Amino acid sequence: MENNRAVSYFDCIVLNNFCNICNNEFQCHFFRICAIMGNEKGYKYMKITYFGTTTLLFDDGKDQILFDCHFTRPSLPDYIRSKETVSDTALINELLRKHHIDRLRAIFISHTHHDHVLDAPYTALQTGAVIYGSSSAMNVARGGNVPESQMVQFADNTSYTVGNYRITVIPSLHSKPTILNNDLGETIDAPLVQPAKLRDYKEGGSYDFYFETPEKTYMIRPSFNYIKGQMDPYKADILFLGVAGLAKADAETERTFFAETAAKLQPKLIIPVHWDNFFSRLDVPARGMVPLVEHTEVVFFKLMQYCEEHQIDFVVQIPRTSITL
Ligand SMILES: [Zn+2]
Repeated sequence: MENNRAVSYFDCIVLNNFCNICNNEFQCHFFRICAIMGNEKGYKYMKITYFGTTTLLFDDGKDQILFDCHFTRPSLPDYIRSKETVSDTALINELLRKHHIDRLRAIFISHTHHDHVLDAPYTALQTGAVIYGSSSAMNVARGGNVPESQMVQFADNTSYTVGNYRITVIPSLHSKPTILNNDLGETIDAPLVQPAKLRDYKEGGSYDFYFETPEKTYMIRPSFNYIKGQMDPYKADILFLGVAGLAKADAETERTFFAETAAKLQPKLIIPVHWDNFFSRLDVPARGMVPLVEHTEVVFFKLMQYCEEHQIDFVVQIPRTSITL
C-alpha cells in the first residue's frame, strides 16, 4: 500500500487504459494498483447524476457531459393546455451549483420533446457547453440565442469525441405515440423562442447514445421501443433503459423489447430512466407516473424479473442523486 501511493492519478488513468486491453482481468497487477488507488482516494472513475426523466450527467473528474437537459418540469395541466413556458433559471442555477456542474463540455439531445430539451439553451449559455442534436435541437438552441459555435448538428451512426469520451449517435424510435404526444416524425423548423408552447417541442427524430470511456461502455436508450437488429454491433457494461410504457406492454412486446435491448447489449447493470413523473417538479419528492398513464411499481417489477432471471444487477436511481461506478 505504501509504495502504491507513489502512483499518480495520471498513471492510474494510463494503467486503466492498459488494463482495458487485457479486459480488466483482476489478476492483472496494474489493474490491482488502480483499484487500490481508487479505494484510497475514494475515486472509482465515473460519477453519474440522475435528474429524472432521461437527464443524466457523467463526470470522470475532468469533463462533464449531459445526456438530455430537462430540469424545469411544467405540470400535466400546463402540458395539456400547451402553456407558454420558460426555463426555471433559479432552479437550474441551484442545480448547477449544488452538483458542481462547472466543467460541462457537451449536451447530447435524444429528441426534442420538452421533457428532453427544454433547458438545453439556458444550460449551454451558463456553462459554455456545446449542444449536439438533430436539426430540431439546433432550432431549440437558436431560439435560446446559443452561439452557432456551441451547436453541432449530429449525423446518424457517427461518433463524436468529447474529452476522453466517445459518443456514437444511433437512430432510434420514440415510444408509441399517445394522445398527448402524437407528433412523431414532426420537426422544429424555425428557432423556438421561449416563452414557447410546450406542444411546439416536436419530436424531431429519436436517438440512442453509445457512450464509450477508457474504463466502461454505456448505452443510453431514452425511449421504450427498438429497431430490430439496431443494437447488434454493441455491448455495454451499463444500460440506461427507457421504460415508459413497459407496464402496459403485452407479453410479446415486452419479450421482444428485452430481446432487442438487454439481451443484445449484455450489460452487467441496468438503471431505468423515464420512470418518474416528469410533470412533478424536481424540488418536491420524486414519484412514479400517474397511475392513469403508467403503474411504475409494475415497471420495476417487470424489470426486476428480467434482471433476476438473467443475473443482471438492477439499481433505481432517485432524481438529484449521484452514484460513482
Ligand atoms: Zn418524447
